[in-house]
Amino acid sequence: MVGFGYDCHRLAKGEQLILGGIEIDSESGTVAHSDGDVVLHALCDALLGAGGLGDIGEHFPDTEPKYKGADSSFFINEVLRLLNDKGFSLINIDVTIILEKPKLGEYKQQIRENTARLCGLADERVNIKAKTSEKLGFAGRSEGVEAYCVCEIR
Ligand code: MG
Repeated sequence: MVGFGYDCHRLAKGEQLILGGIEIDSESGTVAHSDGDVVLHALCDALLGAGGLGDIGEHFPDTEPKYKGADSSFFINEVLRLLNDKGFSLINIDVTIILEKPKLGEYKQQIRENTARLCGLADERVNIKAKTSEKLGFAGRSEGVEAYCVCEIR
């Protein structure tokens, strides 16, 4: 089974930017109820999609006080547990991050390793791609950061 997920968050000066559980050195960070990790949120939705389990908002509403500032690895752990309960195991993950700046080249390996660790996968089963949107649209104007994710489960 395959699943697809997407997430975006607004960027603002002075906020933290966390991608795949890794803190990025950046002037701007995400404005969010949780830690605003678009990589892990897109991954959650991909996992839920593959398992036919709905979406992240149903499972972890952003109106819920207990998720304020939440470390998104909690969401991943919960979703992996749901998949495990249904007898599924995760095969691989492919992510594309869209961020105008900073360039993520030096962070891609760390994001990959951390995401693999969270999911109990070998690093080779997690692929992280990063690109700008060529100054087009909200990501291009550095108003936001986006992530797309697909995964396979069996
Ligand atoms: Mg989100």
